Amino acid sequence: MSRHDGVSCDSCLKSNFRGKRYKCLVCYDYDLCATCYEAGATSTRHTNDHPVQCIITRSDFDIFYGGEAITSEQPQAFSCPYCTKMGFTEAMLQEHVTNDHADTTAEVVCPICASLPGGDPNHMTDDFAAHLSLEHRAPREFISFHG
Ligand SMILES: [Zn+2]
Ligand SMILES: [Zn+2]
Ligand SMILES: [Zn+2]
Ligand SMILES: [Zn+2]
Repeated sequence: MSRHDGVSCDSCLKSNFRGKRYKCLVCYDYDLCATCYEAGATSTRHTNDHPVQCIITRSDFDIFYGGEAITSEQPQAFSCPYCTKMGFTEAMLQEHVTNDHADTTAEVVCPICASLPGGDPNHMTDDFAAHLSLEHRAPREFISFHG
């Protein structure tokens, strides 16, 4: 599948769209297609200040991680749900949140759970640092598919 099945853009309302998907890490269940994200789409609840997580499709994910090819570029980089910085690996994000956001208790969507195939796309937590160390403890294999 190269589409985001069951997901619709909350701005243009296109469903099962292709390409990259941008998920707000503050608004519950708020997704934008690449076109709307790049156009800076906002709504009554969502603003451009909100951190977003870029999510690739399952088939793109398998192409990047399933084959023998070694890519220097990491296609699935994570965004910090507190300060909107992008491009973290799982381990980097954990370190960043521990160092920079130790006292932050805002409720956010976990960008790692949201990005992983089969993960919970709307996992909200008000203790993201603890969630990271419990659920996404590094170092480990980036991901392992069962079966
Ligand atoms: Zn759209
Ligand atoms: Zn938002
Ligand atoms: Zn941050
Ligand atoms: Zn998570």
